[in-house]
Amino acid sequence: MNLTNKALLRDKGYIDGAWVDADSGETLEVTNPATDEVIAVVPKMGAAETRRAIEAARVAQKLWKRRPAKERSNILRKWFTLIMENQEDLAQIITDEMGKPLTEARGEIAYGASYIEWYAEEAKRVYGETIPAPSDDKRIVVMKQPIGVIASITPWNFPNAMITRKIAPALAVGCATLMKPAEQTPLSALALCELAEQAGLPKGLINCIIGDPVAIGGEMTANDTVRKVTFTGSTGVGRLLMKQSSDTIKKLGLELGGNAPFIVFDDADLDAAVEGAMISKYRNSGQTCVCANRLYVQEGVYDAFAEKLAAKVRELKVGNGLDDGVVQGPLIDMKAIEKVEDHVADALAKGGEIVCGGKRHALGKSFFEPTIIKNVTKEMKVAREETFGPVAPLFKFKDAEDVIEQANDTEFGLASYFYSKDMSNVFRVAEELEYGMVGVNTGLISNEAAPFGGVKQSGLGREGSKFGLDDYLELKYVCLSEI
Ligand code: ADP
Repeated sequence: MNLTNKALLRDKGYIDGAWVDADSGETLEVTNPATDEVIAVVPKMGAAETRRAIEAARVAQKLWKRRPAKERSNILRKWFTLIMENQEDLAQIITDEMGKPLTEARGEIAYGASYIEWYAEEAKRVYGETIPAPSDDKRIVVMKQPIGVIASITPWNFPNAMITRKIAPALAVGCATLMKPAEQTPLSALALCELAEQAGLPKGLINCIIGDPVAIGGEMTANDTVRKVTFTGSTGVGRLLMKQSSDTIKKLGLELGGNAPFIVFDDADLDAAVEGAMISKYRNSGQTCVCANRLYVQEGVYDAFAEKLAAKVRELKVGNGLDDGVVQGPLIDMKAIEKVEDHVADALAKGGEIVCGGKRHALGKSFFEPTIIKNVTKEMKVAREETFGPVAPLFKFKDAEDVIEQANDTEFGLASYFYSKDMSNVFRVAEELEYGMVGVNTGLISNEAAPFGGVKQSGLGREGSKFGLDDYLELKYVCLSEI
């Protein structure tokens, strides 16, 4: 890797301010999915290392929670600045370890850092309350205090931003943290630890354990010192972590799978809808939890929309994310390709029709052609499961009632999108969609000032915004008597 700042490329775990190997000496290889090249070898850690990180966090939190909010804020602000100063190198690390195009990787660094900036500011605004008491001899004071030690588990699709979204608010309010990044993408996590250290974050407040997810997740959930587990990933693993956390009654933040509907009404601005669909569907090669998974297009514009979308999709350049002009990188691994292939084959077997793409890309490895399928019905897998790849299935619908029913017919409830110019339709549909987030006439909804999160089986809690702070705080009621 050709980085300007070589210090960012760390290949050990980070516990209590020290860079460490696995107790067992075992290692994991990190590969670049665009080239299959091994780019780093990192330790494969387990429960014992996790326990040590939890203990380090417990000790560090005692002092951290007492530091004035302004001091915590200043350290976070410094961390933000360092990340932005190293944006180019950090973006390259992302592209090398998970394949997304460099322009998207640069965007992820700015997006991830924006949560640190936001929570550096919010750190100073954790207001409590006084409440008028029902009797004259008492006063009611409500304080907000940090929950304590927070354990985070994050996926490979946003190797930087999924971490900062969780760690920044936790540190801002006075919690201590340990993280387990996805085994495919540990390098972005380690680079963040390096920069946190340079920013002056005291040791023990941020720890990074890489390795066996079952052993690390098992310790994080069983250990009573951890008071909250925050997870982004699949609904299946989220369910498991929730079960495992029940013995110690932990708080949970869960950002799980989605099955986002993207609805285009007859009265929509079609060009804008196509543009939104391109961003929402094909960003990160379809590998985001808010990617449009099902595109519903009203009868009157179905064919026109399919044609316009296909013209744009055919222009997408597929390749190594480091190469100029590439906007579609490889999928993360061969398992991902097999799932996409299975969804396409299932749709075709049940009457779907390929508009463009539809198979593995000539580049081989885990590259897949950006794909559109027509004549899609609700019996197909693409209607029920998250495809997590560059496939746009186009469903046809009659009217608002029909499409709302279809859109809500899923156990998921993360992101949704629709395009319409009729204001009364806009309000009604936005209210009726059973989703945590609704994009109206836009395919891009996530930013640090807004609450990101899902309803139903898409999760618990919100990340970002002033609401995201509450997820790391406990209320304490102090009753002052005989005043
Ligand atoms: P994906 O299919 O996108 O990789 P996962 O939910 O499997 O989604 O992975 C998200 C994160 O959860 C990764 O960091 C992964 O290592 C972790 N993970 C997977 N299985 C477990 C488990 N049993 N316990 C704890 N973490 C796990």
